[in-house]
Amino acid sequence: MTSPRVIPIQPAPPQEAEPGMVSLYASQAKVYPRSVSGRFARWRWVMVWLTQLFFYGLPWLNWNGRQAVLFDLGERRFYILGLVMQPQDFIYLAALLVISALSLFFFTALAGRLWCGYACPQTVYTEIFLWIERRVEGDRQARMRLDAAPWSVAKLGRKALKQALWVGVALFTGFSFVGYFTPIRVLSSELALGAFSPWEWFWVLFYGLATYGNAGYMREQICKYMCPYARFQSALIDMDSLVIAYDARRGEPRGSRSRKADPASLGLGSCIDCTLCVQVCPTGIDIREGLQNECIACAACIDVCDDVMGKMGYPTGLIRYSSGHAMEKQWPRAALLRRVLRPRVLIYAGLLSLTCLGFALSLLQRHDFAVNVIKDRGTLARQVGHGNIENVYRLQVINSTEQAQQFKVEVLGQAGLSVASEAGLSVPATGIGTLPLRLELEAGAAESHRGQVLPLQLRVTREATPGEQASSVTEKTTFVVPR
Ligand code: SF4
Ligand code: SF4
Repeated sequence: MTSPRVIPIQPAPPQEAEPGMVSLYASQAKVYPRSVSGRFARWRWVMVWLTQLFFYGLPWLNWNGRQAVLFDLGERRFYILGLVMQPQDFIYLAALLVISALSLFFFTALAGRLWCGYACPQTVYTEIFLWIERRVEGDRQARMRLDAAPWSVAKLGRKALKQALWVGVALFTGFSFVGYFTPIRVLSSELALGAFSPWEWFWVLFYGLATYGNAGYMREQICKYMCPYARFQSALIDMDSLVIAYDARRGEPRGSRSRKADPASLGLGSCIDCTLCVQVCPTGIDIREGLQNECIACAACIDVCDDVMGKMGYPTGLIRYSSGHAMEKQWPRAALLRRVLRPRVLIYAGLLSLTCLGFALSLLQRHDFAVNVIKDRGTLARQVGHGNIENVYRLQVINSTEQAQQFKVEVLGQAGLSVASEAGLSVPATGIGTLPLRLELEAGAAESHRGQVLPLQLRVTREATPGEQASSVTEKTTFVVPR
């Protein structure tokens, strides 16, 4: 008996990282962004307030006695103010996704990562979590000292308070998120009674944990390594896009000096090398090394540098919104703004406007009910009394209003063809009604169309109600006449 062959597997020797390569498993130095004030910081806070008032407040808004915005996945219905969207309306969701993608293209071509700097949930929640961190642990230096200090009762107290506040915000965010899918008032009562369903627990905790982890710990790592937008934005911006840039011609050679010193006589540029622009950067980069993938265009470095320039008595704008070409050719502001409106931006703007217009028009013309006609495949046609020919259909009427509605059916487009079954049906609010429908063709007309498939239309009319006019939808189908 021969012994089985064994292929020895040797562990690979540890490899030295190539120069210039970053291992994804390398531990990253923690970034301690310094707080900053200024006009762009104020805009960021305006966006934090607007987006969060919208996100936390919207589920509590009522409309006609129900939650104004509710995505009822169980019933497969979306309520958005006065609109009730049913599965057949998912085309609107697709249109919204197209509008979002075009908006991203447009704004990126226009002004780089405007979305990342001011409105992205990752930026907004990081801003909120950082605000809590600063209130509890202090600004950059104090936080660095606290982290380096040995554990003590005071340190434990601060850390515990910060964690408690973070967890509170994260859980409230998870709760608000689930409130878009389960009526938030029902969710609140369930919370008070401790009666969440397992799925509600799962989603509150999942979304809460994602918020806590992403805004509390992952922060700039999400923007640097996980966000797909960061990867493809370089394909969307060009040398005329507005980006945040350091004016190296004016700033270099950098170096410290006293406030009274004349930089020209010292052979220095305007940058006093205070490194404040690096200290405020939430992604921990140095904008003076040029535009980098990691820059989320938060403009914190502009604010702090403008402040430094003001204190030194130099003109502001050493770091500013500019473009590659404007920096290279030292264009004045007017020339820079003229180039911003270039063909690429105008094409995106045109496409975006057309899509928005089409979306708005189709929403305005949308019927508040939809009709599906399904032909009975079992019996295509059969002869009934007096030589008449009958075809059988199933009519499905989807009522997208929040009142029960009465519908009636008529047949159009073929002489001698009529509805031989019940032609009316009642459909409950936001419900679906089904009507078995028999159409009959008179014997004389059937004789002259033997062996033909006749086109016809079924007109379904929603009857008028107090305050609502009648409206109709016409669907095409066919009638089979046997040989
Ligand atoms: S904040 Fe301004 S002056 Fe200070 S290092 Fe940065 S670019 Fe230079
Ligand atoms: S480089 Fe400036 S704009 Fe870019 S992320 Fe850092 S602070 Fe924000």
